[in-house]
Amino acid sequence: MPKIGVVGAGHVGASTALYLAEAELGDVMLVDILEGVAKGKALDLLEAGPVRGYDSMIEGSGDIRAIAGSDLVIVTAGLPRKPGMSRLDLLKANADIIRGVAETIRDQAPKAFVIVITNPLDVMTYLMYRITGFPRERVIGMAGVLDSTRFRSFLAMEIGVSVEDIQAMVLGGHGDTMVPLVRYATVGGIPVGTFIPKERLEAIIQRTRDGGAEIVKLLQTGSAFYAPAASAVQMAESILRDKKRLLPVAAFLNGEYGFKDLYLGVPAILGAKGLEKIVELELTPEEKGALAKSADEVKKGIADLTVEPAAR
Ligand code: NAD
Repeated sequence: MPKIGVVGAGHVGASTALYLAEAELGDVMLVDILEGVAKGKALDLLEAGPVRGYDSMIEGSGDIRAIAGSDLVIVTAGLPRKPGMSRLDLLKANADIIRGVAETIRDQAPKAFVIVITNPLDVMTYLMYRITGFPRERVIGMAGVLDSTRFRSFLAMEIGVSVEDIQAMVLGGHGDTMVPLVRYATVGGIPVGTFIPKERLEAIIQRTRDGGAEIVKLLQTGSAFYAPAASAVQMAESILRDKKRLLPVAAFLNGEYGFKDLYLGVPAILGAKGLEKIVELELTPEEKGALAKSADEVKKGIADLTVEPAAR
């Protein structure tokens, strides 16, 4: 069984451990600075196994070095934004956490694939890449699968059709500047524009952009975790089972789509080698403009980090 480390046993981390166990993708090591939380949730999940019919080993630890030797690590450790905290305050606080986590992964799990979930996503994934010094094939971020699954859910509700038949792709950075590719959204291969008038489609796109905020507003405390965890596990499954799924992934760009030295959501094939191929689509001038705006936001975040490029 592969070993899968999950860093952070909060809402997203615990749900990730649950979906990993249910899919029997490997043995799970759930770690958190709150030792009791990691150990308690891991034990609770293990005890659900006999009823749910999974037999993955799930352990918890308060020492992040327990992820040693992991084949894949999913990183959810981070602070949520608190009232009065600026975007920059949050970025710096989570960057400090990611720095420490990245050093531990580099030293303890040097062969691991890393999927980052911590926000601000594209910037934290960039930091993970820089600090670990791992090749870009092994460091990716989760955002696009979540944004796309939200888009797919809203489209299915609107049309009154099974979500299984809806395909959609969302590019760009995670947040307000994401770029849903409406041209490529289909119902059983038929463009969604056939089913939904333009204004309704625009409202659905806006709801997708605000998808995270909609949940935050409802929950009052905390942010979404089921769909984010499910999305990360789909990415993990594609790598560990070499499924070669084509998914929107935050990937390090080296000239693709005209960008360099940043992480941005693009369609990519995930398999046993990790990020196996970035798929470059022809974009309309409008889509190109939206992607450039999204990239600018990510670049601003990266500029706020003080990070030395890792020797590679
Ligand atoms: P949470 O507060 O429930 O859990 C975070 C956990 O991280 C806490 O248990 C905390 O103790 C732990 N932690 C903090 N520092 C740590 C460290 N150094 N080592 C180990 N554990 C540490 O938060 P959550 O709802 O699970 O969200 C986690 C992160 O995921 C946040 O940054 C959130 O914004 C992000 N997120 C991203 C997406 C996305 O689409 N990429 C979606 C949802 C949430």
